[in-house]
Amino acid sequence: MWEADIHKLAQEHLLREISVLDSPSGPIMSLKGQKILQFATNDYLGLANHPQLKHVAQKAIEQFGVGAGASRLISGTLRPHHNLELALAQFTNTDAALTFSSGYATNLGVIPLLAKTGGLIFADRLCHASLIDGCRLSRADFRVFPHNDMKHLRSLLANRQANRPTLLITEGVFSMDGDLAPLPELTHLAKEFEATLLLDDAHGTGVMGPTGRGTIEHWGVEGHNVLHMGTLSKAIGTSGGFMTGPLSLINYLINTSRSFLYSTAPPPAMAAAAQAAVSLILQEPERHARLWENREHMYQGLTAMGCHMTKTQSPILPIIVHDPRLATEMSVSLQKKGIYIPAIRPPTVPKGSSRLRVTVTAEHSPDQIDEALTAIQQVGQSLKILR
Ligand SMILES: *Cc1c(COP(=O)(O)O)cnc(C)c1O
Repeated sequence: MWEADIHKLAQEHLLREISVLDSPSGPIMSLKGQKILQFATNDYLGLANHPQLKHVAQKAIEQFGVGAGASRLISGTLRPHHNLELALAQFTNTDAALTFSSGYATNLGVIPLLAKTGGLIFADRLCHASLIDGCRLSRADFRVFPHNDMKHLRSLLANRQANRPTLLITEGVFSMDGDLAPLPELTHLAKEFEATLLLDDAHGTGVMGPTGRGTIEHWGVEGHNVLHMGTLSKAIGTSGGFMTGPLSLINYLINTSRSFLYSTAPPPAMAAAAQAAVSLILQEPERHARLWENREHMYQGLTAMGCHMTKTQSPILPIIVHDPRLATEMSVSLQKKGIYIPAIRPPTVPKGSSRLRVTVTAEHSPDQIDEALTAIQQVGQSLKILR
C-alpha cells in the first residue's frame, strides 16, 4: 500500500526525513552530535527558549500541573487560559480572543462556522494547508484565486450569484514566500461586496507592524472588520492558536467550534508562558528591532550575490531554485558546512518552485549571518545556481 507511494516520493526527490535535535531550536543547534547554525525556525523573536518564559512556565506547572484535564467546557477553564485570552484581545486591539491547541486546530474550528452550506469561499492560492483543510471541512463552495491577484478576486466577487454569503481568506505574511497580502485592497473589496475577510496572521503576529501587533498594524487597517487568527507557536515562541473578534463571535465559537469543544485544553503552563511572551514583546521592543536589522542584513546579502528571491517583505527569505533535487542538494551541502536551511518542495509549494527557505531571528548575530551568506554563495556557485 504505502510502500509504493514512499518509493515514488523518493524517486521524485520529495521524500522527507525527521532530524532529531538534542538542543533547543535556537541559532545554534545540536544535530547528530554536530553543532549547526540554523536559519529555519519560526521563533522569530527567540522567545521559545527565553529564561523568563521558562520560569513562568515552571511556576505555572507548580500551581496548575502539567495537563489541563479535559476540554474547557467540561472541567472548567484554568486561570492561565482566561488571562491569556484577555492579553491577546488587548494585544491585537480586538474585543475578545479564544485559544485553541494549535493554529491548525484554530483554522479547522473556525472556517466551517464562517462559511456554511450555500456560502462561498475565495482563498488565495498560496494559503496554508490548515486554511485549505478548514475550507474542505466547511460545506461552502470553495475556490482559489491566483496569489494576491486582486483583479481576479474582484471579478470572482462581481460574478458570483447575488446574496451568497462570501468568505475571503488570506494570510498576512505568506508562510513559504514571505510576501504580504494587500490588506488595504482586500478590506476594500470585502466592504464593497459585503464579504467577510478572514486573515491568518501566523507569521505576522509579533513580527509585522511597528510594535509587532501584526499585519493589520503594518497596513494601518485597524477597524476595518478584519477577522483574524494567529498562532502562539511562531513569534510568541510557545504553542497553540487563537482567534480574535467581536464578543458575539467568540461566544459563538465557544458554543460551536468543534476543535475547541472536543479537544482537551492546552497545558496551562503553555498559556502562562504565551501570556508572558505577549507582555515581553511590548516591554522589550529591542528584540523586534534586532529581528528587522538581521532581516535586512540577510536580505541585502542574498540579493547582492544574485539569489533569485520571492517578493518577500518579511524575515522569511526564500531562495527559489525550482528543481526539488537541486533544492535538496543545496540544503545537504550547506549542512555539511554547518548551516541548516531546509529545502521546501511540493506539495508545500507549487510544482517547479522548490526553494531554500531561509528565516532569520532576533537571536542571530551579524557574524552568524555573514557565515551563512558565505556558505550559501560557495554552495550556490558549486551547484551553478549562482555565478
Ligand atoms: C504555522 C501556520 C499555521 C499553523 O499554526 P500551528 O500553531 O503551527 O498549528 C497556520 N497558518 C499558517 C499560515 C501557518 O504558517
